[in-house]
Amino acid sequence: MQTRVTKAEIVRSLPEPVVLPQEAAEIIRRGGLVAFPTETVYGLGADAFNEEACAKIYEAKGRPSDNPLIVHIAEYESILRLTDDRNPRMKALAESFWPGPLTMIVKRGRNSVPDAVTGGRDTVAVRWPSHPVAQALIRVAGGYIAAPSANRSGRPSPTKASHVIEDLDGRIDMIIDGGDTQVGLESTIVDLSEEEVRILRPGMIGAEEIARVLAAPEGVSQLPSAAAAEEAEEALAPGMKYTHYAPKGEMTLVSGDKEHVISYINRSASGTDKITGVISSEENAALYKADVIISCGSRTDGAAVAQRLYAALREMDARGAELIFCEDFSEADKTGAIANRLHKASGGRHVFAEADGRVRAKQNPGGGQRDGTAI
Ligand code: AMP
Ligand code: MG
Repeated sequence: MQTRVTKAEIVRSLPEPVVLPQEAAEIIRRGGLVAFPTETVYGLGADAFNEEACAKIYEAKGRPSDNPLIVHIAEYESILRLTDDRNPRMKALAESFWPGPLTMIVKRGRNSVPDAVTGGRDTVAVRWPSHPVAQALIRVAGGYIAAPSANRSGRPSPTKASHVIEDLDGRIDMIIDGGDTQVGLESTIVDLSEEEVRILRPGMIGAEEIARVLAAPEGVSQLPSAAAAEEAEEALAPGMKYTHYAPKGEMTLVSGDKEHVISYINRSASGTDKITGVISSEENAALYKADVIISCGSRTDGAAVAQRLYAALREMDARGAELIFCEDFSEADKTGAIANRLHKASGGRHVFAEADGRVRAKQNPGGGQRDGTAI
């Protein structure tokens, strides 16, 4: 299959602010696959009501079939076809965060999407993205696009069209190039299908913000509990149990005081024949000695770090880094989303650097909010 790569033109004039590549929506309508930019990461889209088309997504990505897709919509009313639930929490969260990087899990309705989208679950994941290209494509293609991230399964999610080309060229019909994505990490997933509201995947919209909206008088009467849930992984977004976001090299996350982190990393990187890499904050980048040093932005700028993180992981692959060290960015990480992705990218290898180059295994690896936190 030949994959066409085309730019979308954002014209910012009403009524339609985007000129889509010719045939993009047509490809979706006739059951093909189109990768498109959203504000979080690039998605790989198919008509959410076309079972066969959705099956192609799993094949193109090499995605396990029990890992369901998110249905992307372009107006609030569309969710009312996907669920029969008229949960006031759904409306309250939509009013505050949609369009935007929040996915809601709701009970699947009688006339909802087929099993291929939900992995046979009785719930469905729904998001209204804010990216103008995503919105135009969804609208013109019929209102419902099922889409996971547009990467090969296990690879970091794509934040540039070139990442999608790297992973999926020849496997899908079209890639719409909309430049770099703004948020850079996948959406926050909040589960509204049970009495207890839970965050299944942290993202740039934090648990506190969500809890605040749900506690408002027009939201719900009951304040969600703030206790962390000790739940089995199957209860969470099923995708979270798979190795994710991983670069090809072996990555270690390093926490601790700045000077200890730098000295541990420099010592480890100099004592090996392997190609070494450091994912660093802007402030510290000049202080490392390694083959590949990539800055993700200021220690205090979480939005910048999130936006650049996946490109940094992919750049490490492109430059052949075999042993990668990464700062923990905890100062910048207000919602725990960065810690969550770094924990997965490092396969749980997380050390705490102490004086004289000593390290100890970090307690509570991941550092930030865990998957499945109840709010
Ligand atoms: P991706 O868009 O690649 O981040 O993948 C979608 C994510 O949403 C995966 O982690 C899925 O497991 C999760 N997801 C989709 N549908 C559901 C659902 N019905 N219940 C729980 N998690 C879901
Ligand atoms: Mg994904």
